[in-house]
Amino acid sequence: MSEPAIKTEPQRIIGRDKDMFLAEENPFEAMMERFDHAAQLLNLDPGLYKVLRNPEKQIIVSVPIVRDNGDVEVYTGYRVLYNTSRGPAKGGIRFDLNVTLEEVKALAAWMTWKCALVNIPFGGAKGGVVCDPSAMSMTELERVTRRYTSGIIETLGPDSDVPAPDVNTNERVMAWIMDTYSMHHRHTVTAVVTGKPIEMGGSLGRREATGRGCMIVTREALARLGMSLKGARIAVQGFGNVGSVSADLMAREGATVVAVSDKSGGVYDPKGLDVADLLRWAGERRHLSAYAKAEHITNEQLLVVDCDVLIPAATENVITRKNAPNIKAKVICEGANGPTTAAADKVLEEKGIFVIPDILANAGGVTVSYFEWVQDRGGYFWDLETVNRRLESIMERSFHEVLGLVDKHKVSTRIACYMLAVDRVAAMHRLRGMYA
Ligand code: GLU
Repeated sequence: MSEPAIKTEPQRIIGRDKDMFLAEENPFEAMMERFDHAAQLLNLDPGLYKVLRNPEKQIIVSVPIVRDNGDVEVYTGYRVLYNTSRGPAKGGIRFDLNVTLEEVKALAAWMTWKCALVNIPFGGAKGGVVCDPSAMSMTELERVTRRYTSGIIETLGPDSDVPAPDVNTNERVMAWIMDTYSMHHRHTVTAVVTGKPIEMGGSLGRREATGRGCMIVTREALARLGMSLKGARIAVQGFGNVGSVSADLMAREGATVVAVSDKSGGVYDPKGLDVADLLRWAGERRHLSAYAKAEHITNEQLLVVDCDVLIPAATENVITRKNAPNIKAKVICEGANGPTTAAADKVLEEKGIFVIPDILANAGGVTVSYFEWVQDRGGYFWDLETVNRRLESIMERSFHEVLGLVDKHKVSTRIACYMLAVDRVAAMHRLRGMYA
């Protein structure tokens, strides 16, 4: 087999405890628990409550391809549209062995709340193919991408469902999706997907947007605690797109990055790691376990190192009721989707840790996806300064709207996020009424 087509993101074995899985780690249940709490506080009427607990559409497709050695392999692909009342479904596509329908449903719901929370005109969706891209060649990856795209093509479209990158997918994969869709429609449709290469209608700043959003809300959270990014000690779990850009941008603001990890393990230096050197290392597709210039720690140890800000930027369910009591950070910025279990929420709240929940913390990515979609549809492209300024204003506004609800209702930041988001989706349903 030739060189793997894609460098895989940290897998979810990170910090995972097998015994806890059934009790605590069903991502859809985790999402529902927070939704129920918010719905109760909002006094959501029973009919709407029922509607919003169910995904609108769930698609399961078979993805057969011929492998480079001539064998036929069949993968399973999912696309879930959770809710499209506020606009076209929006959300990433992940290629990962751990993808399940339950997970994709949860991630699609989180996209719904995320888009509503930052008030962009999209519904929520997610997709995934159960596969291991690190064991595929570039041509195999292309075949999986195109076959999956053709399998879900009826749902796709700039006005109906707009994918983007997620775990183990990137702008190369988005380019294939755009091409497959456009070939079927007999004309070029750039706005069908976001996170594309700049040369084909991608937005400046999209690749860094999730990490930039994390930096902005972390800065605001630290300010609320009377601290600043300058001198703050940061630990980052996951050194993929979100984790590495967050570490880089925070270091540029004067923070000291004391620990980072990827799926192979972590590195730690209380005096501060050389982030530029680590970025180079990861850029050469080398694992951190082979990095010689710092002390080695496990992913589980990284979560509990002495730091001011912890950024779980890998995957779901890494902060559990088991390790939450030992976390020393003052702020947790959830770069990943669903890194904290509902049971761990309570522990973090009791400890007084300031949590910036996933649907706020990592919303920078979909916000610049929205900008990309607007630019593609308008056929007029913005400079980087405009993209970053508009991102900053949306992230800051959303952060302070959430804080307003925290202060008003005396709820956690997570429940405040859900209240704001669910209320916006519910308002749209009330205005539209029930089609029958
Ligand atoms: N996959 C990213 C997320 O979870 C981005 C989605 C998008 O840009 O549509 O937010």
